[in-house]
Amino acid sequence: MITDSPKNSRTLRTIEHDADLVVVGGGLSGACAAIAAARHGLNVVLIQDRPVPGGNSSSEVRLWVLGATVHMTTNNRWAREGGIINEIMMENVWRNPGGNPVVWDTILLEKLAAETRVTLLLNTACHACEKHPDDEARITSVTAFNAQTSTLHIARAPLFCDASGDGILGFLAGAAFRMGAEPRGEFDEAFARSDDFGHLLGHSIYFQSRDTGHPVPYVAPSFALKGTEIESKIPRHKHISGTEHGCHLWWLEWGGRLDTIHDTEKIKWELWRVTYGIWDYIKNSGKFPESENLALDWVGLIPGKRESRRFEGDYMLSQKDIVGRRNHPDAVAYGGWSIDLHPADGLFAPVAGSHHVFPKGVYSIPYRCYYSRNINNLFLAGRIISATHVAFGSTRVMCTCAIGGQVVGTAAALCKKLDQLPRAIGKGDALARLQRQLLRDEQHIPAIPLRDSDDLARQAAITASSERIIESLPADANAVPLDCARAQLFPLQPGAAPRITLTLDADSSVEIHAELRTTSDPNHHTPDVTLAARTLAITKGIRQAHTLDFSDITISENCYAFLILRPAAGVRWHTTTGRVSGMLALRNWRAEKKTDVGGEEYEVFRADRRPDGRNFALRFDPPLRPYAPANILNGYHRPTNQTNTWVAADGDLAPALTLSWPESQTISHIRIGLDADYEHPMETVVYRHPERAVPFCVKDIRVLADDGRPLAEIRDNHQGWITITLPSPVSTKTLSIEVLATHGAPAAITQVRAYAAAPAL
Ligand SMILES: Cc1cc2nc3c(=O)[nH]c(=O)nc-3n(C[C@H](O)[C@H](O)[C@H](O)COP(=O)(O)OP(=O)(O)OC[C@H]3O[C@@H](n4cnc5c(N)ncnc54)[C@H](O)[C@@H]3O)c2cc1C
Repeated sequence: MITDSPKNSRTLRTIEHDADLVVVGGGLSGACAAIAAARHGLNVVLIQDRPVPGGNSSSEVRLWVLGATVHMTTNNRWAREGGIINEIMMENVWRNPGGNPVVWDTILLEKLAAETRVTLLLNTACHACEKHPDDEARITSVTAFNAQTSTLHIARAPLFCDASGDGILGFLAGAAFRMGAEPRGEFDEAFARSDDFGHLLGHSIYFQSRDTGHPVPYVAPSFALKGTEIESKIPRHKHISGTEHGCHLWWLEWGGRLDTIHDTEKIKWELWRVTYGIWDYIKNSGKFPESENLALDWVGLIPGKRESRRFEGDYMLSQKDIVGRRNHPDAVAYGGWSIDLHPADGLFAPVAGSHHVFPKGVYSIPYRCYYSRNINNLFLAGRIISATHVAFGSTRVMCTCAIGGQVVGTAAALCKKLDQLPRAIGKGDALARLQRQLLRDEQHIPAIPLRDSDDLARQAAITASSERIIESLPADANAVPLDCARAQLFPLQPGAAPRITLTLDADSSVEIHAELRTTSDPNHHTPDVTLAARTLAITKGIRQAHTLDFSDITISENCYAFLILRPAAGVRWHTTTGRVSGMLALRNWRAEKKTDVGGEEYEVFRADRRPDGRNFALRFDPPLRPYAPANILNGYHRPTNQTNTWVAADGDLAPALTLSWPESQTISHIRIGLDADYEHPMETVVYRHPERAVPFCVKDIRVLADDGRPLAEIRDNHQGWITITLPSPVSTKTLSIEVLATHGAPAAITQVRAYAAAPAL
């Protein structure tokens, strides 16, 4: 028994932590910052005010995690984010292909718990910070309170990261910030919105329903909006459907005219009124008979917050950086979501719920956006990074936030190693080391390949058991109608373009217009340069072979080409069953025409999810040779302007790659990059994924030394990278990598790196 005599007051139990880095906010940006820093040797305290990590992706809010793939609906190809977030997403699809948000929570919890250097403080809210008595630009500690344990935590460190969404630490520390939109003239942003449209995005609350198989009544709480109010106040009430829920109802948004931090409780109540009112409308208005058996399964208890403070770094990303896809010398990450701005009045606004400008491809984000310009030891991660309101419209999606978190965690480790503050990492040798480490850790930085002088593979000669040559993709699958322009995306190498034979059905005689296109920039996949246009006159008949001769076109450097067939009534184009890395069938989806608001005009071709989206049946003369073994050394691990992948020939029963050196090498650490199919998004909820493991990924692999000794054998892999740390270094003149099984597609490898010792930061 505990008893205590009366006191004037008592103090809370207090636990003090000393760390290398303190991260405030455990959304995907904060979680990835903490994991990256811990993997590079830092002791990290991660302070998260909610019971689970994940922020807006967690089971408390249930947003789908998105990024540059944009559900495959843009010209961004192979754009899924790499690094830690890719590891998490691939694990989630493997364990949780149905998108259960509670399982997603456990994957994040497991990842953080596995990092022994991370002290994860859940249910703990940061509310104060201390600064150095002689240096007001330096934070020395943060204080946070856990109401579950009635405990104060004081966490001290030389470096801090604010990943809290609202920027609580930056705010308390006095970091320069903005809230609301910049005037159009400040950054010459033509997409800057008017006062009518409003200057802040609002919050949303989602709900989920479940089919119980029997009728379920519903009585709404008295505070819910009434049906008449829904019909009179919500211009888009006709979009309400009896079966949609969760992320489909992203437009149930409100609060952008209020203070999206201090008025959050008020905004939440209004969103509850709306949410319960809409459910009442669905269940009881008589307009949705399909809802009879549906029960309200879940309603968000905290709103998802889209926008509040944005902090100023040494550079503010703006619309021109995104649309112009500017190269930054300190590029460390990328984005690819549209600039996606919403009216401040949200669901009550008379205009569309979202307004977009899409760049032609992914764009770089400079390191200078990831630290405060006036608090010298404060990193920024997540939606608060240094970007204008317009640019934030794109950088705010969670995969983009997550790769920024990895940048911050890695930069923090370099700060410690070099005894520097964040700003110093953005220049010279430190910046080169940061970029190199991010690439080593499977991040993608547009137009920056990995050049790793510690990697012994770079001096090796590469041979393979075989190499896939694309001569013919047989017409052994369905034929798709030319009801829209359809395209085959394929890699071309310098020299004469090929003659291409396709297989078509036609219900009557017709002319088909075909084009060979490529891109104006090797770093995007928008077909904005026409190399040749041809007309095919075809007669009625099925499985007709027609050849388009492009041999008069000279290709000067590696590029992706698009064979486009324009729509033609009664014509079908045959497809092929087998899938192969770095080739995609596309279809014309829409035209982007946003020149009036600082965007561009171009055609958008999208890819389709498996099991659809089969490549078209084609014969190439001369054949394409895009899968040379040497590709594994070129420093990219996803298709760019070439496949950057070795693929074994069809029918190779023992696919293997061999690295050979003239002299024996001492090797103890090996990294093998696989084709993780960066084209396919891996949304965490709502979408169901066609496979648990990426079909292009290697499943079983064995690595052998020159005397045939197996050094490692990995079974049942479903991740995009394999890391092998040998128990003791080996001396060998060759490394053979045998692909024993894949998850379906031909054996493919994107990178092999070999090190004498695990490479240091
Ligand atoms: C309704 C809605 C729809 C959206 N749609 C999408 C979408 O479809 N896909 C997508 O990828 N993105 C979407 N976004 C954007 C995206 O969710 C956010 O921009 C993103 O979550 C920001 O990441 P973050 O890590 O900065 O913040 P968050 O995900 O918000 O994580 C920050 C974490 O910090 C915690 N925190 C806050 N204050 C403190 C404190 N004082 N102490 C400790 N912890 C604290 C928060 O509780 C939170 O868990 C949407 C946003 C909303 C609201």
